[in-house]
Amino acid sequence: MSKTVFSKPFTQQEAIPETGIEHAVEILRSGRLHRYNTLEGETSETALLEREYADYMGQRYCLACTSGGYSLHIALRAAGLKPGEAVLSNAFTLAPVPGAIDNAGGKPLLVEIDENYCVDLAHLEAMMQQSKARFFMISHMRGHIADMVAVVELCTKYGVTLIEDSAHTMGASWNGKKSGSFGKIACFSTQTYKHLNSGEGGLLTTDDDDIIARAIIYSGSYMMYERHGTLPDADVFADIRLDTPNYSGRMDNLRATILRAQLPGLDQNCARWNERYRSLENRLSQNSRIQLPYRPEQESYVGSSLQFRIAEFDQEQVPAFVSGCAQRGVELKWFGNVEPQGFTSRYDSWRYLENTPQLPQTLEVLATTFDLRIPLTFTVEDMEIIGSIIDEETAAIFD
Ligand SMILES: *Cc1c(COP(=O)(O)O)cnc(C)c1O
Repeated sequence: MSKTVFSKPFTQQEAIPETGIEHAVEILRSGRLHRYNTLEGETSETALLEREYADYMGQRYCLACTSGGYSLHIALRAAGLKPGEAVLSNAFTLAPVPGAIDNAGGKPLLVEIDENYCVDLAHLEAMMQQSKARFFMISHMRGHIADMVAVVELCTKYGVTLIEDSAHTMGASWNGKKSGSFGKIACFSTQTYKHLNSGEGGLLTTDDDDIIARAIIYSGSYMMYERHGTLPDADVFADIRLDTPNYSGRMDNLRATILRAQLPGLDQNCARWNERYRSLENRLSQNSRIQLPYRPEQESYVGSSLQFRIAEFDQEQVPAFVSGCAQRGVELKWFGNVEPQGFTSRYDSWRYLENTPQLPQTLEVLATTFDLRIPLTFTVEDMEIIGSIIDEETAAIFD
């Protein structure tokens, strides 16, 4: 009997909603793509998006800019990072996070993760004590949310400013409070593979007057900052507008209108991701060799990707398993690979870090961790096929 092959691409997102396409065409016809290119009395699409996303998050301010990584970078600057200062961050994250810290003139200081892919709180506290770092950029990598009450407590205890990389937790929450509303600042990405898709784009949210004013000026507002969708009183800008450099990184109206069309459907899409996630999780949980992360009750996650471990594997078995799945159309990423591949790299390949830290626990977890995307173009029934392929290919390694 021939083996089942799954034939849908793991990188295929859904189409932009028709209303978004229509508005995008109108904007193209108008020629007014720049966020400050408005007619008398007109509010730009970008400013409207800022208002709407701030409301969605329950935060006072939102800034739309070029990318998630860009927003992380200006978040650190707006929070007052000084050149050469250390910034704590969990070691399991995507390359733009240490990149943003470096870009802001900081030094990434990496913290261990636990077996559920969250920051290790004991190591975090030890690092806070040791380093005296003033900033912690927590990355909710692949949507795994640490105990945020404990994280905030530690930050308060050690006087650390918390900045959240919520690229994978847009729409998620901890104990009923939105992910991205625990820290001083949160950053989101609207790159194609995230929860809203404008190709590229970033959203920064905060409740802090000075921080949003600085972030707006950094983002390249010139003296047009009053046209932003959310902003503090004019006097907050009095000095900031002159003291803050312009690091040109604005969003444009075309991308903003595409995002505005998607935002009303975000929560429903999150539910659709979770339906798929839980179906695959349930299928894989029947295989005793596969370890799935524990997801605490307080965590309302968005299952747009799934991670699992097969701790029994030794390093030689892993490539055979990954290629076995690939031959049957199931695209797994392996975080244990020494060689960075595609979007995936492990912290020890970021050679620009001053001293490559020794993080044995993180390495051990990642050595046998596999990751797969769950695009919404897959159906719940597809999860059964993917799950059975993973199941059979796991068995093939051991039998
Ligand atoms: C995508 C991503 C970013 C950066 O977002 P860009 O918009 O691609 O710059 C940051 N952190 C994580 C975890 C991401 O997945």
